[in-house]
Amino acid sequence: MNETSTATGRFEFKAEIKQLLDILVHSLYTSREIFLRELISNASDALDKLRFQLNKGGDIYEKELPLEIHIDFDKNRKTLTIKDTGIGMTKDEVISNIGTIAKSGTSEFLKLLKENNTSANNIIGKFGVGFYSVFMVAKEAIIKSRSYLPEAKAVEWKSDGLGEYEIKEIDEKIPRGTAIEIFLKDDAAEFCERYKLEQTIKKHSSFISFPIYLEKEKINTISAIWREPKSSITKEQYNEFYKFLSYDNEDPLFVIHKSVDAPIQFNSLLFIPKKSSEFFWFDRENYGLDLYVRRVLIQHKNKDLLPEYMSFVKGVVDSEDLPLNISRETLQENVIFTKISQNITSQVLNFLQETAKSSLTDYTNFWNEHGRIFKLGYTDFTNNEKYLELIRFNSSFNSNKEDVTSLAEYVSRMKTGQKEIYYLTGSSREGIELDPHLELFKDKELEVLYLYDPIDEIILSSLRKYKEYEFKSVESIQPSTLEKFESRTDKAEFEKLTGDDKKHFSSLLTKMKKILGDKVEDVKESQRLKSSASCLVSKDEGFSSAMSKILKMTNKQVEPQKKILEINPDHKLIRNLLQLFKTNSNDEFIVNVTEQLFESALLLEGSLDDPHTLVNRLNKMLEQSSDWYLQVKGKD
Ligand code: ADP
Ligand code: MG
Repeated sequence: MNETSTATGRFEFKAEIKQLLDILVHSLYTSREIFLRELISNASDALDKLRFQLNKGGDIYEKELPLEIHIDFDKNRKTLTIKDTGIGMTKDEVISNIGTIAKSGTSEFLKLLKENNTSANNIIGKFGVGFYSVFMVAKEAIIKSRSYLPEAKAVEWKSDGLGEYEIKEIDEKIPRGTAIEIFLKDDAAEFCERYKLEQTIKKHSSFISFPIYLEKEKINTISAIWREPKSSITKEQYNEFYKFLSYDNEDPLFVIHKSVDAPIQFNSLLFIPKKSSEFFWFDRENYGLDLYVRRVLIQHKNKDLLPEYMSFVKGVVDSEDLPLNISRETLQENVIFTKISQNITSQVLNFLQETAKSSLTDYTNFWNEHGRIFKLGYTDFTNNEKYLELIRFNSSFNSNKEDVTSLAEYVSRMKTGQKEIYYLTGSSREGIELDPHLELFKDKELEVLYLYDPIDEIILSSLRKYKEYEFKSVESIQPSTLEKFESRTDKAEFEKLTGDDKKHFSSLLTKMKKILGDKVEDVKESQRLKSSASCLVSKDEGFSSAMSKILKMTNKQVEPQKKILEINPDHKLIRNLLQLFKTNSNDEFIVNVTEQLFESALLLEGSLDDPHTLVNRLNKMLEQSSDWYLQVKGKD
């Protein structure tokens, strides 16, 4: 299609936009007032961009025009107009910004709605639905825009939001910026009532930093709250500002408001949300703080002010010292910027440390919500010491899986002579507590950290130690090194093996090794088991089973590490086996039990590749034992 500058071009919306429009119009009825928040937010963005250009000192159309937002309505015509004197758009910009999907997240948003059957109302707050929300109330919308570029032509865009839009350049002389005229649907007539508009603007847009005029009367009067002294701000104001900033509908968990004077001067107002937004994984790119220089917004969602492991923090930083015309590209190399960033990183860490001291409940809430992201800070070497004090784990000394333990608490409970911090990985508390490796530690009342997240073990291996105490997997501990710790119970069900029995037991182990062959490194008598018959252990300092699993997932080439099968001589099954072995060392039953013990151990640590043989064997043994059981039962 060959368009002349004034000819009308007719375009179809992209498929995702049509879907989005459909959802907006049909399922968001009750929250449709947010269309106004979205249009005002776009106007404010456009004004921010213009101010940025002004500071850069380029050529700007109608340079003297004040930076404002005007909202007017006409009850008779049922129209509403939102006008800004911002950066405006050229025809090409309108096509690519309004006609195409601007946000990469939009299609993800749609997918989420479909897959999770989430009600749109619940997540709409987190997700700026943008310009298209206008069609919740509009039967037709007309955009007229004049770009700030001196040579640009004015442009007009028109649509009923059903499937197509029209666009053309116009000769009309209009002021710089964008005006959106809305022809209200019959059931949306309330949006040309003054009280309704005022109420909506105050509710959703009161922190917009440009003046908003409703029929020539300025209605937003709140200034940059982060520059006000702490004492003058109420909790409600903080909460309101947080909601405005984050689109969250809950109050924040924590507010950190600081005014720093030396050596650099800046104000920061940071918030930690109650809920992690990790669920909105597409939102992960959406993190960052808003950076201002003397009240002027320099960058939305700056990602370098805080390290990524603090990406759950929302807020505003306003510097007195940065130059206004600093480019976003050179920010990171700026010394002042770096200092601000270090300072607010410490602010957050210090705040968390104080909270951990003053309120266990608050801190545990924080940890359970944001810990998954926060713990990725193990690579932040500059703040390593603080980080180590802030991480938490569930432990064998906690009474349930919601409680957490700090490393300092662990150390304070260590046994005399204990030099290591023990941990064990598993998918759940129930699972870990059944792990045979834990038996010895339970018996000696040695505390063990329970790790449920595969990353936890990577974190501990890479941190290596807390103070002088090394992190050690329970699986890699030689029982002999724990001999110095007293045993709580020595409930010996059996007398220790002596004399001939000892020799037979040793031959039984040799026999078992022969049965398993290359599948195990060795078969040995266990010093660590109390109630289980057997378990698998790594030789010396090998990877723990959880670590091997991770390695296996990431790199299929890794040779599975051969392990030692440990056998508990004081277990009923093993004693019976020994009896059998003494009468007939070649009994088939010994082979079956050995293989079963080995495969059960593999199953427990999650590394049994194929369960078929195990299940078949188990079923056969059950069949046999049912025969015996019947015989015994029949007798009484
Ligand atoms: P978002 O604001 O999240 O980018 P929107 O759908 O609200 O998404 O807007 C899409 C784009 O349209 C904006 O990014 C901007 O480029 C452009 N736009 C919308 N409203 C205006 C306006 N009033 N002035 C200039 N550009 C605008
Ligand atoms: Mg927007």
